[in-house]
Amino acid sequence: MKIAILALQGAFEEHRQMLLKLGVESFLIRNLSDYQQPKDGLIIPGGESTTILKLLKDLSIYDFLKKDIENGLPVFGTCAGLIMLDSNHLDTMDIVVKRNAYGRQLGSFYCEGEFSGIDTKIPMTFIRAPYIVSVGQNVKVLSVVDGKIVAALQNKQLVTAFHPELNEDTRVHEYFLSIVSA
Ligand code: GLN
Repeated sequence: MKIAILALQGAFEEHRQMLLKLGVESFLIRNLSDYQQPKDGLIIPGGESTTILKLLKDLSIYDFLKKDIENGLPVFGTCAGLIMLDSNHLDTMDIVVKRNAYGRQLGSFYCEGEFSGIDTKIPMTFIRAPYIVSVGQNVKVLSVVDGKIVAALQNKQLVTAFHPELNEDTRVHEYFLSIVSA
């Protein structure tokens, strides 16, 4: 199994470390030729969604990526990566997202929460995080914190509003890998 990590901007290195810890091969995408290497799944990290979107377009990766996701490439988006899949960005997931949704004071916080398919609570680090306001009927809600949807799944698209790559717990990444190998 080989996982590509979009490395245009943001917290990509932490995802790479996570995959290393799990013994999974990965490579970073910095340009179109990196993107075109064979891959079984792709991670879109947190960062700044406006910047990531612009770079995807400038580097001519956007159309290939959108098509690959629509054709079933497994993808895991964290935070800005979640935003990238909504209708204002790659438009591959049926979710309505609110950016910087917790306001200035509460933008960054830590908690532990339930995650459907993982049997005990997982650590959740939120950084100027979005949340999901509503989901379409093909989307499965995986986690709700304080009444807000913070993780969801649509076919092979997994998103979290928090950053599982910033904690030691590897279970959300393992969850994604199980989707990749399903
Ligand atoms: N606030 C960022 C955005 O709107 C997301 C923050 C993050 O990825 N940690 O793109």
